[in-house]
Amino acid sequence: MGWRAGLGGVDVHALSGICGELERFGPRSIEVGERPDPEVAVPTDAVVRVVLACVCGSNLWYYRSDSPHAVGPIGHEFVGVVEDIGTEVAGLASGDFVIAPFVFSDGTCPHCRAGWPPSCVSGGSFGNHGIDGGQGEAVRVPFAGATLVKVPGSGHSGETVRSLLTLSDVMCTGHHAAVSAGVAPGSVVAVVGDGAVGLSAILASARLGAARIIALSRAPARQEIARAFGATDIIGERGEEAIARVMDLTDGIGVDAALECVGTGQSMATNFGIARPGSIVGAVGAPHGVEVPIETVIFRNVGFRGGVSPARRYIPELMPDVLEGRINPGAVLDYESDLDGIPDAYAAMDERRAIKALVRVGSL
Ligand SMILES: [Zn+2]
Repeated sequence: MGWRAGLGGVDVHALSGICGELERFGPRSIEVGERPDPEVAVPTDAVVRVVLACVCGSNLWYYRSDSPHAVGPIGHEFVGVVEDIGTEVAGLASGDFVIAPFVFSDGTCPHCRAGWPPSCVSGGSFGNHGIDGGQGEAVRVPFAGATLVKVPGSGHSGETVRSLLTLSDVMCTGHHAAVSAGVAPGSVVAVVGDGAVGLSAILASARLGAARIIALSRAPARQEIARAFGATDIIGERGEEAIARVMDLTDGIGVDAALECVGTGQSMATNFGIARPGSIVGAVGAPHGVEVPIETVIFRNVGFRGGVSPARRYIPELMPDVLEGRINPGAVLDYESDLDGIPDAYAAMDERRAIKALVRVGSL
C-alpha cells in the first residue's frame, strides 16, 4: 500500500481511444488513489508528510478539462513535516514544519539568484508531470533545501497553520499583484476579482499601506472577507459599469494601482479602464482569451506587470506577519474536507459554494 494522493481529472483528448477510461476520467473526475511511497531519490530531495493542502482555482482548469492533466498526482499548495531527508539538503532536518511554495527551484541558477524561482532552469511545479502533488499524504520535494521554508517555533494555533498554508500560493500570488502594480503607502487601489487571490490581493495592499482599496465583488460572503481584509469601498458592477463607478469614486482620475486577479478579457479591460495615467496594472489571473490594450499602455502611460508569483521569495517576508498575527490570510479557506472528501472539495469550488477548499490530510 502506498501513500494516497488525489488523481487529476484529465483532458479527454489525452485518452482518446481508451473508451472505458474516457468515461471514467472525463471532465469533473477526481478521485483518491494509491501511489507508491515517495522516497528520497537524490541527495537534494526531502520527503514531506502533508499536514494541510488546498485546492487552487487553477486546479479547476484540469477539473473542467480546460487544460490537460495526466491521471496522477495533483495539487501544489501544502504545508507539512519533513519525514525523510537527503544528505545534501542544507538547513532542514527531519521533523521540521515547512511551507512548500507551489514550484520547486534549485536556488542557484541565474533566474533563482535574480529572484524568479518560478523560472528556475531546473524547477517545476508540484502535482504536474509526475511530480508528487500536495493533495496527497506525502510529497517528494526536489531541491528541498532551496525550495522549502522552515516555520520557526512550535505549538502554532490551527488558525496560524491555515494562514501559513496560504503562503504556499494564494497569499503570495495576491501579494505579487500588489507588488507588481507598485502599491505603496497612500495608494488608491482597485482589486478586480473576489476569488481567493483577489481577496489576498486586498490584504496584501492593506499590508503595504494602501489608503483606499476598492474591491469589485458581488457575493456577500466574499464582500465580508474583503472588508475584513481592508477594502474601503465595494462595488458590485462589472464591465463598463464598473469602470464608471470606479472613475466616479476617484473623481474621474482612476486608481494608482489596478490589480487583475481574474484572467478574462473583460476583467483585463476593466483594469485598463480604471488605471490612471502613470499607474501599473498588476496581473496575476491566469489568462484565458485576454488581450493587453497596447494603445492604452502607450498613449495613457499605463504599465503592465505581473505573472507567476515568486512565492519562494515572498514567504520569508510574509511569514512573520502571519506568525505574529498581523495578517490572517487563512480566512479565505471557507470549506474543509479530508482527502476522501476531495471530490466535493473540487465541486464546491467549481460551483462557487466555496471560495477556497482546505484539505486536512494529517496532523502536526
Ligand atoms: Zn533555479
